[in-house]
Amino acid sequence: MIWDHVVDEVLGGDGPFAGVEAVRIRNAHTGDTTVIPAEGLFVAIGHDPATKPFRGHLPLDEDGYLIVDAGSTRTTVPGVFAAGDCVDKVFRQAVTAAGMGCMAALEAERHLSDMEDSAQAAAAE
Ligand SMILES: Cc1cc2nc3c(=O)[nH]c(=O)nc-3n(C[C@H](O)[C@H](O)[C@H](O)COP(=O)(O)OP(=O)(O)OC[C@H]3O[C@@H](n4cnc5c(N)ncnc54)[C@H](O)[C@@H]3O)c2cc1C
Repeated sequence: MIWDHVVDEVLGGDGPFAGVEAVRIRNAHTGDTTVIPAEGLFVAIGHDPATKPFRGHLPLDEDGYLIVDAGSTRTTVPGVFAAGDCVDKVFRQAVTAAGMGCMAALEAERHLSDMEDSAQAAAAE
């Protein structure tokens, strides 16, 4: 484990099929650079949910994920449903996000038809 370093340059051979051969890293404190041999590079982008626009409008947990009712995509705001990576801090997979998206669509549809029923009942009174 090499701490406190950033990647300055990925070094590879010439030609269309050349792969990664080394990585130049720089010590963030001293500025010293070192070349370490490597056959690949994996960039970890982290797990920050993109929920900034909802701050102050919808409840978020301490890690910034939107909070929904258990077994549902319902937020505390009626008619607002949340699904996918902005809610799920455990699985974060395409298939689970798509499944939650389907749940949210069904719950939104149900919410709209309940609103319509209420409006019709109010009009009939
Ligand atoms: C490198 C990588 C590899 C992955 N590999 C796999 C894999 O092999 N298998 C797998 O199942 N899952 C994989 N995943 C996870 C999968 O991509 C996600 O779980 C899934 O895409 C989540 O779907 P989502 O709809 O919740 O969010 P996203 O797909 O992230 O969609 C969110 C959308 O909202 C848009 N957006 C964000 N902010 C705003 C804003 N302010 N206004 C308007 N639009 C906005 C974004 O542009 C984006 O289009 C991978 C993810 C990454 C990053």
